[in-house]
Amino acid sequence: MSEKYDIAVLGGGPGGYVAAIRAAQLGAKVALIEKDKLGGTCLNRGCIPTKALIACANLYEKMQKAESFGISAGKVSIDFKKVVDRKNEIINKLVKGVEFLLEKNKIEVIRGEGKVLEPGKIQIGSREVYSQATILATGSSPASLPGISFDGEKFLTSDDLLEYHPLPPQLDIVGGGVIGLHFAVIFSTLGTKVKVYEALPEILPGIDEEVIIAIKRILKRKNVEIVTGARFEASQSCGKTLICVGRTPNTAGLESLKLKMEGRSVWVNEKMETNIPNVYAVGDLVSKKMFAHVAYEQGVIAAENALGGDRTFSYEYIPYGIYTHPEIGSVGLTEKEALEKHQNIKVGKFPFAALGIAAAMGETEGFIKVISDEKGKLLGVHILGPEATDLIGSATLAIKQGLTVDKLAETFQAHPTYPEGLQEAALAVLKKSLHSIN
Ligand code: FAD
Repeated sequence: MSEKYDIAVLGGGPGGYVAAIRAAQLGAKVALIEKDKLGGTCLNRGCIPTKALIACANLYEKMQKAESFGISAGKVSIDFKKVVDRKNEIINKLVKGVEFLLEKNKIEVIRGEGKVLEPGKIQIGSREVYSQATILATGSSPASLPGISFDGEKFLTSDDLLEYHPLPPQLDIVGGGVIGLHFAVIFSTLGTKVKVYEALPEILPGIDEEVIIAIKRILKRKNVEIVTGARFEASQSCGKTLICVGRTPNTAGLESLKLKMEGRSVWVNEKMETNIPNVYAVGDLVSKKMFAHVAYEQGVIAAENALGGDRTFSYEYIPYGIYTHPEIGSVGLTEKEALEKHQNIKVGKFPFAALGIAAAMGETEGFIKVISDEKGKLLGVHILGPEATDLIGSATLAIKQGLTVDKLAETFQAHPTYPEGLQEAALAVLKKSLHSIN
């Protein structure tokens, strides 16, 4: 059986399904090929399941503090099976939502493993799909360390740890990046003793140094032990060990294309074009920053360009959202990077402890830091504190639009809200903060 389409998308994760929707919106006849569940890593094994578990961990932590809010909640306990069941219900609902969106956009979803035979020709079992253009969005899988193979018992991937199992008394986590810290927060809050091993001199690459110092102090208080500059050996594992030392792009089935590679990733230019005409690639398969929001944006750009557009993707202002407790939000240059690139910089900081809403909510830990050049151009914003992953959205808008710090300081915010803290940090750059000492 052979079928013809304008666009064939291989992989139904955030990069692929969004590319398919955008192409259909532009009037193209689209096929989306997916071998597993729609929504990919993000929806089934990544962003959403971890956040569902983090929501439970945060609620559990808050309930333990109920007395300080004047509420007696009795003895609080966890049924981890129910926590995981809730996570699965959320995922199933969202996967159905993606299926519905694809159906309403008249995208043909083809179930099965796709193998690219040549540009514009993909085989899925006995079916052959022909297309004018192809968008590759096959994502990535957990990477391991030499001498360690995943066995689902002792050495675990993040996928394994998201399935139900009794809460382990101890968990070693190899890798102090975003994913490692998400799991450190979930399991330590639920009562597991957690130790994080990071081979680099510091955890959380790309995050502002002051934020790292503060979150390490908070995690230590929460019984998370962090060892940096430490090479983990398989013989060290005496219980369960989560290995999250990065992810490897999924290139199986793409061999015949002879794609240009950049390390283990597929090379693309800023238009998301590979070296093969009419073949685009997006998301974790190509990304220098493996985030769902990067995959979404690259998917839209690839779809538009495949249909005659001329859009480009830039890594310049990618926001980070890290779901520690308190959260981390970050965009633009860290203070160290800003100092390396600019002769003079200005830094303003505002502590959540000085913010009315934070006191009312019992979430006073952390700060907002705004960095500008000497003329006031925004260079970076770094937040450790409540709602940091949401607050960073306004900072990203400001920095992407090239706003100066006085424009950010002029924003009118409702009271009492967390965005007042962002305005105050911008005012602090100008030595005009109203609710802290300049
Ligand atoms: P994927 O989501 O991996 O999707 C690829 C799809 O292609 C899969 O469904 C796969 O089955 C399919 N596929 C592969 N090969 C074939 C084939 N040959 N034929 C058919 N189908 C195929 N990012 C964030 O932005 N925020 C977060 O908070 C966050 N948390 C995360 C937490 C964890 C634990 C993990 C692991 C990741 C997290 N990420 C987060 C990263 C995010 O999940 C990925 O960046 C994102 O899913 C990448 O999207 P993608 O479409 O490129 O690939």
